[in-house]
Amino acid sequence: MPRRPCLDCGRLTHASRCERCAAVHQARIEQRRGSATHRGYGYRYRVTAAAKVSAHRQVYGDWCPGYGVPAHRSADLTADHITPKSAGGADTPENLAVLCRMCNARKYNRIA
Ligand SMILES: [Zn+2]
Ligand SMILES: [Zn+2]
Repeated sequence: MPRRPCLDCGRLTHASRCERCAAVHQARIEQRRGSATHRGYGYRYRVTAAAKVSAHRQVYGDWCPGYGVPAHRSADLTADHITPKSAGGADTPENLAVLCRMCNARKYNRIA
C-alpha cells in the first residue's frame, strides 16, 4: 500500500491520517457526540426516566395516574419533570412523575 500525506499534519502514512492525528480526530468526534447529549435531555436522563417508568409499571402496571383526567389504563407511559428543568428541576427520580404521553402533553401545555 503506497504511503500518502496525513490529512492533518502531512506526515507520510498508510492511512488517511497518521496514528497520532487519527487519535485526535477520533477524540474530537467523541467530544462532539458527548456534548450533543449534554444538551437538553441526555443519555443519563433517558436512563433515569426509563428506570422511573419501569418502577412505576412494576407497582401499578400500565396505568396512568392522569393529569386533568381520571387515572386510566395506558401502555404509553413516560416520565416527566415535576419541577421543570427550566425552573431548576433536577434529572433525578424524585423529580420525575410518570404520566402517559397524552397527559404529559396536556401538563406541558398547561405550564407553558
Ligand atoms: Zn498526522
Ligand atoms: Zn394519562
